[in-house]
Amino acid sequence: MTYDFDLFVIGAGSGGVRAARFAAGFGARVAVAESRYLGGTCVNVGCVPKKLLVYGAHFAEDFHQAQGFGWSLGEASFDWPTLIANKDREIERLNGIYRNLLLGSGVTLLEGHARMLDAHSVELGGKRYSAKHILIATGGWPHIPNIPGHEHAIGSNEAFFLKQLPKRVLVVGGGYIAVEFASIFNGLGAQTSLLYRGELFLRGFDKAVRLHVQEELIKRGLDLQFNSDIQRIDKQADGSLHATLIDGRVLEADCIFFATGRKPMLDNLGLENTLVELDERGYIQVDEQYQTREPSVLAIGDVIGRVQLTPVALAEGMAVARRLFKPEEYRKVDYQMIPTAVFSLPNIGTVGLSEEQARAAGHKVNVFESRFRPMKLTLTDCQERSLMKLVVDADSDRVLGCHMVGPDAGEIIQGLAVAMKAGATKQHFDETIGVHPTAAEEFVTMRTPVAS
Ligand code: FAD
Ligand code: NDP
Repeated sequence: MTYDFDLFVIGAGSGGVRAARFAAGFGARVAVAESRYLGGTCVNVGCVPKKLLVYGAHFAEDFHQAQGFGWSLGEASFDWPTLIANKDREIERLNGIYRNLLLGSGVTLLEGHARMLDAHSVELGGKRYSAKHILIATGGWPHIPNIPGHEHAIGSNEAFFLKQLPKRVLVVGGGYIAVEFASIFNGLGAQTSLLYRGELFLRGFDKAVRLHVQEELIKRGLDLQFNSDIQRIDKQADGSLHATLIDGRVLEADCIFFATGRKPMLDNLGLENTLVELDERGYIQVDEQYQTREPSVLAIGDVIGRVQLTPVALAEGMAVARRLFKPEEYRKVDYQMIPTAVFSLPNIGTVGLSEEQARAAGHKVNVFESRFRPMKLTLTDCQERSLMKLVVDADSDRVLGCHMVGPDAGEIIQGLAVAMKAGATKQHFDETIGVHPTAAEEFVTMRTPVAS
């Protein structure tokens, strides 16, 4: 049987573009379908615009702190439409780069919604295409709980396109997006509250990190309300919103932003025409090699719900391209020691196990911690403190986890992830000469365990 393509990729996001380009590079005939925006979530409504907004929000602190170094500035003012317009222009530039990358690598780009008709056929724009393999890389979509008045709330997709910076914002959720956007709104000057349903936000992160971030966000004027959730939202005649909480309190806001997780994007994908199955959480079920129950259909990235991070989708895309078209170079994706950062203000950087995870896994641990005021702040009245923490296996001396809260934590943790991947022990850290004066050198100068 001859097919129109060797590989038909549905979704030109992080994972889909990587798989398509590599497969084409290995000589396969590849098509990629995209219904919305080239580059997917990360480029258009995720990592990239988010980081640009975080940079924008950070200037508020920079202006204030500059005074300690002798600078005097007039009263700073901020214009949200300028930031959003400049961000949009940059994203458009990136969309163009993605288009050129795909076309330049010989991939056929089909713009429109793709729907599977059977195990080897996809329909798009009224045309039918056949392919030996189909790769689902359709990503995810914000999940907003179905409470009365939820239509008055926004999710992360809309937050990037607000016409004005709201004066009063309620952010609901306690994960990555909630903490990052609460930092953005607060930094840019909105009166911001973060409502989280549990005892303490950032579930899954090291407890010391979670407590430290809590303290630092409060210092920055963010209103943190834990054990809180919204029961209903009512829009008032003047356009403002009333959020009724489960404890009966009513909070007023101009914008209510739900950052309550994401669901896989499966809309009108034609799964019912194939043997593809979903797991118990509703994500596409795949085996170790990303194959679904339908042998010719594979899936990667957020739609399989493993680790929802761009570099993971990239690695999975590359693994699929290699397995199908260059098997001699195939390597399994290693899900151990994935470093990650939350770009809140301050940043969180983390790799490996939290102290709680290490203990739960049966490790006897030594814990090293350092809290300090970053040097840059010593000439200012800013009382922000950084946290660094190492979790070490007491028997083998292996470093099991590195955690940081503070400026550039994401940048610093990347290098430590390489050391951890190479199996670094605490002795390796101790024998490494520091770079002075930096914050990062604390990671190689902590000598006395605070807990064991
Ligand atoms: P996506 O990038 O979502 O791509 C899927 C593509 O498929 C989309 O373009 C979509 O339009 C298209 N599509 C869907 N259905 C169809 C169809 N039927 N036909 C045609 N096309 C279709 N990760 C990080 O590592 N670092 C970060 O800082 C970070 N920040 C984030 C901030 C936010 C606000 C969000 C929401 C996510 C963030 N992420 C971050 C996560 C990251 O964006 C995702 O993990 C990553 O984009 C997943 O890539 P993917 O290829 O699986 O899907
Ligand atoms: P997360 O899964 O990180 O967090 C969801 C939060 O919403 C949790 O605090 C959860 O609470 C809470 N929640 C879930 N359902 C409800 C509900 N019905 N009512 C109230 N609260 C609820 O999801 P995000 O949306 O923040 O982000 C999605 C993913 O995108 C992340 O997990 C991450 O993989 C990726 N991402 C990565 C970023 C980065 O690398 N910097 C940045 C942004 C996103 P509980 O803890 O109690 O379950």
